[in-house]
Amino acid sequence: MIIMKFGGTSVGTTDSIAQVAEIVAQKVAEQGQTNRPGVVVVTSAMSSVTNSLIDSALAAANGDEGPYRESRSQLLVKHQVVAGQLIDDGVERANVGRLIDSRLQEYERLCRSIAVLGELTHRGLDVVSGLGERMSAPLLAAVLRAKGLHAEFVDAGELIITDSEFGNATPIMEQTVSRCLNRLMPMVQSGVVPVITGFVGATETGVPTTLGRGGSDYSAAIIGAALDVDEIQIWTDVDGVLTADPRIVKNARTLPELTYDEVAELAYYGAKVLHPKTVTPAVEKKIPVVVLNTFNPSHPGTRIVDALERPSTEGTVKAITAIRNMRLITVAGRGMMGVPGIAARTFGTVARQRANVLMISQSSSEQSICFVVPDNEAVGVVSALNQEFEQELGRGYIEKIDSQQDIVIVAVVGSGMKGTPGIAARVFNALGAHEINVIAIAQGASEANISLVVLTGDADNAIRAIHDAFELGE
Ligand code: ADP
Ligand code: ASP
Ligand code: MG
Repeated sequence: MIIMKFGGTSVGTTDSIAQVAEIVAQKVAEQGQTNRPGVVVVTSAMSSVTNSLIDSALAAANGDEGPYRESRSQLLVKHQVVAGQLIDDGVERANVGRLIDSRLQEYERLCRSIAVLGELTHRGLDVVSGLGERMSAPLLAAVLRAKGLHAEFVDAGELIITDSEFGNATPIMEQTVSRCLNRLMPMVQSGVVPVITGFVGATETGVPTTLGRGGSDYSAAIIGAALDVDEIQIWTDVDGVLTADPRIVKNARTLPELTYDEVAELAYYGAKVLHPKTVTPAVEKKIPVVVLNTFNPSHPGTRIVDALERPSTEGTVKAITAIRNMRLITVAGRGMMGVPGIAARTFGTVARQRANVLMISQSSSEQSICFVVPDNEAVGVVSALNQEFEQELGRGYIEKIDSQQDIVIVAVVGSGMKGTPGIAARVFNALGAHEINVIAIAQGASEANISLVVLTGDADNAIRAIHDAFELGE
């Protein structure tokens, strides 16, 4: 049994959905020959739909009702074109049309009340932003039926039970596992392909939640682990996980194999190809996660496993990634030296702000602590720190709490870096040769990652320089 997740671009147009149907049909046939047959499908919203839902809801909260009215009709056409071209049966087509229309009516009602209230809560936003998958999944199920497969739409709100951290919910695994087994196993055993909404879940009481942007990858891994599938396939628009973002590095190369740890580092530090939490559910049962290209399905893609079958002989650095829109916060002062607890108070304060610290670096002289947080969380953090250290600032023990904008973290990743001397030197030589200024550095204890902070304007050059220095390209 396998689970196959299709991303936004894979279900973005009539042609690509036809291609997806082709791939699923082939896998269903292949799986039929195995002793554990079964295919489960998870889909994202059609490309750009989630953004358009969110942007229109935000506009509505600011009193602008134009965008949701406009996008409502655009979204109707976008989905109906696919149904019109890929579903021959008139009754099926009408049913899907009605379902899409009723979702969009709900969307309009929601946006209207958001506009009236002039406010958009995280909880409200999750209802709106999950509508894209709630349209694409029933549409894809109908397209698969039109192709002769026994496919049925399932809403992940019935399967993935989460906490109520709206916008970034975490599954409660015990309940999720039993829901998945009860609802999906009988379907699979009777030869049905469940077609499930990615990205969304629901609280125990049924309130819709989402798993964070790009969360459909995570959905597939959660459901795949619950069903104990043999493989979690992530079908996207590139040939797998590459040595760098192909939009930045033209000669980036597909990595045939990676470990869960390496992928977790890459995804956390901005490699958009996988949601950062994707591998978490797969690790315990050691289920391989395979990244494949919908538009080049014969390519073997990237296989992500617990331990490499072919330990790397091709060097130690595997890939380079970057996470943008960051801010570097520095707490500095000579009076900090030897004063215990400054670091603890700093990070305690940051934690109370619920800000996400992506990197920390402290100089050994203890004269400064610097760390990186996302731009949109930085203002709150700085003002909380100013309050926390009011006395120390007054007495001059801490001279300033600074924040620097336009920061990018570049992460150099590879588990083989461990114990290999000279990697950091090569990284810095490469940057030096291109006159790129490194603002801060950190190396994880895992030694699978060296992170450097550079200015936004230098980030792409830094990635290309390191990629070249380690000869990672084709
Ligand atoms: P999907 O809609 O299928 O989930 P995403 O757009 O979320 O696809 O992720 C795929 C994209 O991630 C690729 O088109 C590529 O531009 C980008 N990307 C960034 N870094 C990497 C990387 N290291 N390897 C592969 N793709 C990457
Ligand atoms: N549609 C959602 C998003 O755009 C989830 C996903 O595509 O994985 O974030
Ligand atoms: Mg994605």
